[in-house]
Amino acid sequence: ISQDLEQYTNQKAITKDGVHLPLMVNAGLIADFEKSLDVGADGVGLYRTEIPFLMREQFPSEEEQIRIYRAALQAYQGKSVTFRTLDIGGDKQLSYFPIEEANPFLGWRGIRVTLDHPEIFLVQVRAILKASQGFDNIRISLPMISSVEEVDESLCLIDQAFYEVQQEQPQLTWRKPEVGIILEVPSAMYQIPAIVKRVNFISVGSNDLSQYLLAVDRNNTRVSSLYSNYHPSVIRALAFIRQQVDANTTGLYLCGEMAGDPMAVLVLLGMQYDALSMNARSIPKIKKIVQNFSLDEAKAITEQVLQTDKAKDIHDILFQNLLSKD
Ligand code: PEP
Ligand code: MG
Repeated sequence: ISQDLEQYTNQKAITKDGVHLPLMVNAGLIADFEKSLDVGADGVGLYRTEIPFLMREQFPSEEEQIRIYRAALQAYQGKSVTFRTLDIGGDKQLSYFPIEEANPFLGWRGIRVTLDHPEIFLVQVRAILKASQGFDNIRISLPMISSVEEVDESLCLIDQAFYEVQQEQPQLTWRKPEVGIILEVPSAMYQIPAIVKRVNFISVGSNDLSQYLLAVDRNNTRVSSLYSNYHPSVIRALAFIRQQVDANTTGLYLCGEMAGDPMAVLVLLGMQYDALSMNARSIPKIKKIVQNFSLDEAKAITEQVLQTDKAKDIHDILFQNLLSKD
């Protein structure tokens, strides 16, 4: 798996038996878009819109946001771009909107902030809608959803923003974007039937989902060794989510660091996640791995992993399977 990966730039992640696993990119800076085009990404699965907010001294205006988002859409014409609405709080602090809390990861984060400040949310959604004029490739995802009420409130505000831009420029044709949630709070796992009635897709945010399932802050060196994407409970949660989401009606994606992990990807392929989103630099090696396995092989590995009770043993099974192809 360590050979020259450049040849994969123009190839797709297609298994030995012909199953295509679209590989998208996680982006935040304009440079990320350029890099990911270089490695042949199938779209932007996660645009972390808070990054341009973090780089400024005040909230960017609607006009400024339109310019930023349009640049992303222009780079990716014809491929889908998923804008995650502002995900601040936790470890992401805006200097001009400080949030001080004893427990920031269990506090005012993501959608909780923007539902309490609908004016921030509405400006952003209007900017996304306006930027997407003339493009038909946009999606919107909602971070830190933990209840159905939050989904309904968010959809209501998105409808309001849609109505406002239509009123402002009735001569233009406006298309409603697909909307989905980032599934990263464990409580949302047990609400999937109600959530999928309301949204078009679910994108698993495995970084936060693992952190909340395991109750481990992986930036805390005292406990970070307890954080593992191979923890059987993480793997079983992903299988449970797959089983709850009807593949015929709702897209199921994964956009955490796991997507770019060569071993974890065998399991995500085996469970038949519909697309993965990762750092641009991981894309060539993940393409190579997908090309070296068949879906049936990945399913068999996943079955075995789901019967395994320790993270270390799961890691070893996946590692051995990767080695066998080298
Ligand atoms: C995640 O939580 O997995 C995720 C993709 O979002 P972020 O890392 O930006 O919190
Ligand atoms: Mg997250």
